Amino acid sequence: MIEVTDIHKSFDKLQVIKGVSLSIHDGEMLAIVGPSGAGKTTLLQIVGTLERADSGSVKFDGEEITGLKDSKLARFRNRNMGFVFQFHQLLPEFSLEENVALPALIGGTKRSEAFSHARKLLDELGLGNRLDHRPSQLSGGERQRAAVARALVNDPKVILADEPTGSLDSHNREELYKLFFDLRDATGKTFIIVTHDDTFALKADRVIHMKDGLIV
Ligand code: ADP
Repeated sequence: MIEVTDIHKSFDKLQVIKGVSLSIHDGEMLAIVGPSGAGKTTLLQIVGTLERADSGSVKFDGEEITGLKDSKLARFRNRNMGFVFQFHQLLPEFSLEENVALPALIGGTKRSEAFSHARKLLDELGLGNRLDHRPSQLSGGERQRAAVARALVNDPKVILADEPTGSLDSHNREELYKLFFDLRDATGKTFIIVTHDDTFALKADRVIHMKDGLIV
């Protein structure tokens, strides 16, 4: 589904990605591991179209997305990609329901539809009684689950997660990974996860090990 071919990326003089090619399959649970500074986050962001490669190509379902203009790329991203970060990145002044509905509203979904989908997702993820709460009123595990609901609201094909359990204790870490596998099995979505968590990596369908800007 995603075909990455010979991508390179530098920040100023620092070469961060030095020629990476990778095929990611529909419904795959892919773990990206490796030491800090290896280029994992940069690769994830290039695949997620949050960052552009300097050269090389990224194809999604056969369509070249590397050269899309910013506005087209933003629409493409909003429709096809859901993101979960190490820290939840929920907006503190909004309720959970509003936070989860936001990407749908940005994508042009009708207000009533966006909110009802947000409520349904939060309910399915065990947060149905927290709709009006602000992020600060939740536990760390609940906040990450809300972030997953937000990532799912536009029904993207791919969920990209960067150290999603990095701020969680071991119980919540296991719960979040179980949720990822349950979602993958129920929906067939593709998960690409940067992680330091060996327990999870061992369960993934495939593990990509990065070092010094390359897949090793
Ligand atoms: P990893 O996720 O494996 O820790 P990153 O992709 O975050 O690696 O970073 C790889 C290298 O690129 C690091 O040396 C980091 O400091 C550098 N880097 C990442 N993003 C930027 C940026 N926006 N500007 C400058 N340097 C960056």
